[in-house]
Amino acid sequence: MADMNGGAVSGGLTEAANGLSFYLGDVSAGVLSSLSDGDLLAELRECEALRRRWLMVDAALVAELERRSFAGRLAMPSTSTLLQGVLRLSPTEARQRVDAAAVCGPRWSLTGERLEPLLPRVAASQADGVLSAEHARVIASTIERLPASVAPADAIAAEEHLVLAAGQLRPREVGLVGQRILAHLDPDGVLQSDAEHARRRSFSVTPESGGGYRASGRLTPACGALLLTWLSPRAAPRPATSEGPHNSGDNAAEDNRSATGAPSERVQDARSYGQRMHDALEELAGLAVRSTEVVESGAPAQVIITMTASQLADRSGLAETSFGQLLTVPEALRLADEAAISLLVRDARGAILKHGRLKRIATRAQTLALIARDRGCSFPGCDRPPEWCQRHHVVGWAEGGRTDLDNLTLICGYHHRHFEAEGWSCRLVEGLPTWIPPHWIDPERRPRRNHRITHELR
Ligand SMILES: [Zn+2]
Repeated sequence: MADMNGGAVSGGLTEAANGLSFYLGDVSAGVLSSLSDGDLLAELRECEALRRRWLMVDAALVAELERRSFAGRLAMPSTSTLLQGVLRLSPTEARQRVDAAAVCGPRWSLTGERLEPLLPRVAASQADGVLSAEHARVIASTIERLPASVAPADAIAAEEHLVLAAGQLRPREVGLVGQRILAHLDPDGVLQSDAEHARRRSFSVTPESGGGYRASGRLTPACGALLLTWLSPRAAPRPATSEGPHNSGDNAAEDNRSATGAPSERVQDARSYGQRMHDALEELAGLAVRSTEVVESGAPAQVIITMTASQLADRSGLAETSFGQLLTVPEALRLADEAAISLLVRDARGAILKHGRLKRIATRAQTLALIARDRGCSFPGCDRPPEWCQRHHVVGWAEGGRTDLDNLTLICGYHHRHFEAEGWSCRLVEGLPTWIPPHWIDPERRPRRNHRITHELR
């Protein structure tokens, strides 16, 4: 075997390959299933340690390619390009291997003298099978960010500290340790990067021709943290209160649910992460607009939507916001149900026929009474608190519904968006918000109330 191409140095790679074949033979014979749990974990750790030690073999081979300027002799722009071609690697993977070789692989002085690796402690730990490739990358990027003014002894101490941390922590956490070290050794650098964050901060919401908006920007660490603190919990997947009508093939299951009167079976949120974050952002904006309204009652509305009387009658066509953006009339009416939005209805010539806000705005006393009565979203099974709810006109303002307690209920943004499409309807029975499920949830369409209000329906 030693005379084959593989293992030309000492036959080591050939031996390793033989050992691996032998092991895989045992594995296919089912030897793993006879291991105890403890032995299986030990096997897993040993395999990982070996995988990590192989990274040093990689680094040595790549470093040797670099030393020979192999890629250059083939008229290739870089060793990374060479690796992509020879090993069929992605550009990212190839670049990472070249970078890893620069950190952990052998180096040579200009006179050909062999030098120790750039980060000798990282290299040694990897040779021991302790550090993963990602650990090494995180440590290298931390050390790279140390300013030139840091004393060599401090840089060595930092590398030691990080290598020690990497023996116990995952790469992300090692990165956090690295940030603390940087802040300690280079406080000005951290301050500078804050100034840099402040300089680069931006945010824009740009109307697009289709009627939507494109948001983009770069947030400071503080702003991003605040925003994520708010959005993340509210963008968590919510169990839908009901299945969509298209998924409701199983009639028997529905009958069971309605027979017990229990809330329909909870199914997983079908929204993507991005869609959930978007909805949480909408909730935030709505909350801010509504709270401003409560504080500064009578302040001019920020959003005005106009439509014509015939659009209102047909529930069709495009309404226009005061920003000049178009949105469909049904969507505008949904928005107009939130008191902070003004709805203007004009005739064909543009004269104003109705001014929504004057009629619809709920007073502060009404809002407090609603909170006292509904105590949150009144949709059956929903537990959103009042702060996250909008005032919903049971008989829409456009249909002549009044802004009175007996025509209002609190409803969360999610249910406001979805209840109609899912076939639910709301009415006030004995002064309490009561929801009528669609046929596919309860063929008898027996009314339901939110558990906070009461289970009892007479
Ligand atoms: Zn709700």
